[in-house]
Amino acid sequence: MTQLTQLRVYRPAPSPAAPPSWEWLLTPDNGQGFLEINGTLYKVTEFGFTYDNGAGGRLWKLRKADGTEYQLTQTADADLACDCPDATYRGRECKHVLAVREAYAALDRSDRLGRWLAAMETPADVCPSHSADDYRNKSHDAVPMPF
Ligand SMILES: [Zn+2]
Repeated sequence: MTQLTQLRVYRPAPSPAAPPSWEWLLTPDNGQGFLEINGTLYKVTEFGFTYDNGAGGRLWKLRKADGTEYQLTQTADADLACDCPDATYRGRECKHVLAVREAYAALDRSDRLGRWLAAMETPADVCPSHSADDYRNKSHDAVPMPF
């Protein structure tokens, strides 16, 4: 007779949240910004903290107009965890995590592009029909990119 030494419970992996739509209404300045996720506006407040082992972490509070607040924490392995019901009870990456990750990646791209444009010596290198100031003064969506 075989003995069952390990009981395995089949639990289907949670389906990921649908890719959220997001837009910065106000990019973070002094640790505060406004991010719209799937049509809901959140005030985003950034915090820095230190883990017990001395590693630095980041934390974001997302506050809706009705006062509901969710907290996103950068975990020790640099991933994001949210305390909203979707993330907590469904055990999946919620729209807040997906949107904040993408929105901050876009900020990083915008920041790197801005540094490149600021360092550029000849504005004509960008595009024959736009000056470097066109790019510096508008969002990158407003001016067609040459690449
Ligand atoms: Zn969430």
